[in-house]
Amino acid sequence: MFYTSTRDANVKITASQAVLKGLSDEGGLFVPCEFPKLSVSLSKLADMDYKETAYAVMKDFLTDYTEEELKDCINKAYDSKFDTEEIAPIAEADGVFYLELFHGKTIAFKDMALSILPHLLTTAAKKNKADGEIVILTATSGDTGKAALAGFAGVKGTRIIVFYPKGGVSKVQEKQMVTQKESNTLVVGVKGNFDDCQSKVKELFGDAELKDRMAKKGFRFSSANSINIGRLVPQIVYYVYAYGKLLKEERIKEGEKINICVPTGNFGNILAAYYAKKMGLPVNMLICASNENKVLFDFFKNGVYDKNREFILTDSPSMDILISSNLERLIYLNTGCDPQKTKELMESLKSKGKYDISDTFSKISGEFTGEFANWSECAKKIHDLYEGDGYVIDTHTAVAAAAYDKYVKENPSDKAKTIVASTASPYKFARSVLKAIDSKYESGEDFELIDTLSKLSNTEIPAAVSELKTAEVVHKTVCEISEMKKQVEGNLGL
Ligand SMILES: *Cc1c(COP(=O)(O)O)cnc(C)c1O
Repeated sequence: MFYTSTRDANVKITASQAVLKGLSDEGGLFVPCEFPKLSVSLSKLADMDYKETAYAVMKDFLTDYTEEELKDCINKAYDSKFDTEEIAPIAEADGVFYLELFHGKTIAFKDMALSILPHLLTTAAKKNKADGEIVILTATSGDTGKAALAGFAGVKGTRIIVFYPKGGVSKVQEKQMVTQKESNTLVVGVKGNFDDCQSKVKELFGDAELKDRMAKKGFRFSSANSINIGRLVPQIVYYVYAYGKLLKEERIKEGEKINICVPTGNFGNILAAYYAKKMGLPVNMLICASNENKVLFDFFKNGVYDKNREFILTDSPSMDILISSNLERLIYLNTGCDPQKTKELMESLKSKGKYDISDTFSKISGEFTGEFANWSECAKKIHDLYEGDGYVIDTHTAVAAAAYDKYVKENPSDKAKTIVASTASPYKFARSVLKAIDSKYESGEDFELIDTLSKLSNTEIPAAVSELKTAEVVHKTVCEISEMKKQVEGNLGL
């Protein structure tokens, strides 16, 4: 199987090359030329564990990895780093299946892919004789940085350097990052905002002179960005796995179509569900849930994508996004795989902040629908689920759960059972979650709130949180924006 670019039909590369490159040279995203069909029957799926499912799904997308290579990556990723052998367990509350994607190292769904990406990347480098140590350079507004650090920490042949805006991330997020112990990690606070960090990182990626000096010392840059197919493909796995589990537990019948509702930001997670459907998973409707930054909700109404609007800071910060990069892959499919047309649309997004596909939109509207939920709707949902079922969800999952309730009201004839992707542990957003359950919990120290949440939900505090209390701060450097390059040079001994 080969990958092409959403913006250039002449691109034809292998999976491992696509993982290694991340983004195509002309700015397009790598997409499979054809979608493989699931190689195992649904009934067989019911008896497969997470790793077996991961192999069955990923082998057909990453066809130039050998069986041994791919199984080795899977074994290294989905091990005791997760706090349950199921890796992605399903909870049922109020008639909805919550697919819990937060049992990894940093208790959020990005662990699902970032646990395996470093191994896919180092294997890809070996296969393509791309010599030298891989240097991951990332700017983070909080969550991605920690998930990437946890994924790459201790992985031989890699280094990871993370820049975050000093004062621009939460106390817990900062503590999570600056306590990362492994010697192949570097975390630096920057006197600037997230955009400053991001722009500088992009500049460093494009700095030919720096890359030249790095190459001489045996280093090469790579990216752990969410548009890398090495992050997208592992995300298909848990939807297929969830279907198998529901089948095994006889909650659905073989072939029964299910809805999947996903709290969406960059459109990666829900796109993976769509790829699962393209492989033959019986999926009815894909419900794309947005918070108040509802650019996708508006898009799924009429096919006009318009980011010209106010950016709103919400209680579901990982979804505060106005440019959903992975949507380009759906747009490409909707054009009938026309890279020229896709390129024009993306150029329009860049220059005008807007594009219009209303003329061909009917093709998408049968498969996706958009919903959104504001904070008061989310808070009510968190409260009601806790009161009714004793089940506590985080603020991102709440967007999907509340949006799904709206969908049910608007579509009473749709009786399909529904999976909601649960993307973060409530412990990660304890203050907002408790505030929703009862306003009396609004104040208090972070760790007090965590104890309260543990009592209320009758769940154990995840190690990712309890460890933080006593963890030693190892990264203490703070620098000016203009000193970021020096930090990289210093770390690499250039
Ligand atoms: C990143 C993230 C999302 C959004 O996922 P996308 O793939 O960007 O759509 C939702 N919830 C949480 C907790 C996240 O970290």
